[in-house]
Amino acid sequence: MSASSTGLQDRLIESRLVPLGGVRGLSVHRTLPLRGLPTVGPWCFVDQFGPTFSRMDVLPHPHTGLQTVTWPLVGEIRHRDSRGSDVVLKPGELNLMTSGDGVSHSEFSISSKPTVMHGIQLWVALPNSRRLGPSNFEHLANLPTVEGEGWKGTVMMGEYAGAASAAKTYSPIVGVELRLRPGRSRIPVEPGFEHAILAVDGMVLVDGAIDLPHREMYYFAPGRSEVVVEVRSETIILLIGGEPFTEQLLMWWNFIGRTHEEIVEARNDWESESERFGFVDGHDGLRIPAPPMPNVRLTPRRRSR
Ligand code: MN
Repeated sequence: MSASSTGLQDRLIESRLVPLGGVRGLSVHRTLPLRGLPTVGPWCFVDQFGPTFSRMDVLPHPHTGLQTVTWPLVGEIRHRDSRGSDVVLKPGELNLMTSGDGVSHSEFSISSKPTVMHGIQLWVALPNSRRLGPSNFEHLANLPTVEGEGWKGTVMMGEYAGAASAAKTYSPIVGVELRLRPGRSRIPVEPGFEHAILAVDGMVLVDGAIDLPHREMYYFAPGRSEVVVEVRSETIILLIGGEPFTEQLLMWWNFIGRTHEEIVEARNDWESESERFGFVDGHDGLRIPAPPMPNVRLTPRRRSR
């Protein structure tokens, strides 16, 4: 599969600053979803927060049809969910929550005072074969690492350069944190996958010609076996990818479905405190209410060429 046969084009994905509002003191730099590019492989949502002096303060809220992937770089996050999980997540560790048909969770900074927070939160769309199944939660504290010339990787999801993460995945996917040493590096990639690189903490020169600014992302169409990156000082990048996800996705608030009716049902189930989303202990019943549905029918996000 080559870029020309799929019609997909390499492109810059600029981030936009999104204030999360409510009780959450954080603003995030969001790169996915982008109009015209809803997914990179099955990855459908990428938010980078910080580095910032702030707090994470996210009360219980629901998810359907996706996996949440939390990757802190600085700061510790306490995750609690309706499955009874209560886990402190540290940098270098992965939290992976599979919503299946319904789960709810909360995420809070450990300190009650503002502290330095830096990290990335991503969602993976679940395929039809898994999206209506049971929820699951994995805390992976010992992810495999792999080294190449000029880089060291931690494999979060899937397999990369011969090392495989134990994280449960449901479609062909890869997610790797790469720490680049100053100079030029060749980053191997899977030719059958599409990929994107997020410049997490500094600027990256891509393919010897393209400036990828800090916090922005660059999309690579399928059909290549490596990406050449160059940095001036030690720099962290995130490589995500997978087989292009062909099922249509309807994303609204914290839900991913396939039809407008599914989203309405999920919203009603959350608002009526249905057992579908369970209960997260420790918040005195406080939870994030769903916003009102828009006055138009929700439509799937489509890919433009
Ligand atoms: Mn969430």
